Amino acid sequence: MPSPLLINVAELLRRAGSIREIDCQVDADDFNFDDGRIVRGSQVDIALTLEALTDGIVVHGTLQANWNFECRRCLRTLTGRAEVEVHELYQAVISDPDAYPITGEQLELLEMARENILLAVPLAPLCRPDCPGLCPQCGADLQTDPCACSPALRDDRWAVLDTLRDDQSQ
Ligand SMILES: [Zn+2]
Ligand SMILES: [Zn+2]
Repeated sequence: MPSPLLINVAELLRRAGSIREIDCQVDADDFNFDDGRIVRGSQVDIALTLEALTDGIVVHGTLQANWNFECRRCLRTLTGRAEVEVHELYQAVISDPDAYPITGEQLELLEMARENILLAVPLAPLCRPDCPGLCPQCGADLQTDPCACSPALRDDRWAVLDTLRDDQSQ
């Protein structure tokens, strides 16, 4: 299947300074995100401006995608929309090591958009910073369903996990 974001830029390449707007929605499945955080079947909003330079094309604008996942403590489903500003360079002859290639007068925006969106989606979230999680003894959701088990035991468990995590992130 042809990429929905393969853009012919023959016109743009003819004259530095020319501009083209790309404003569309692409099915999230077309990106092959292979990442459970991106909502399957949702629409990714693409609003980009392509601007021709003498030695390439600058692509800038915003991408938006829906994400969802579970709070790592209470398994509540969280949803949100990531918005990411992009500013990328495409070149036929690569002189900037960060540039994407222009191949046969075409820009492939799909991979660039995919990378930027994945960076904008939150990692390992909590539904709220002080989420009490599930009771390790009875499994109750402590946010809505406080149980009669010993609070000391519950708090110790999170304290240990939080210490471990802090150590890893240093
Ligand atoms: Zn939670
Ligand atoms: Zn309990």
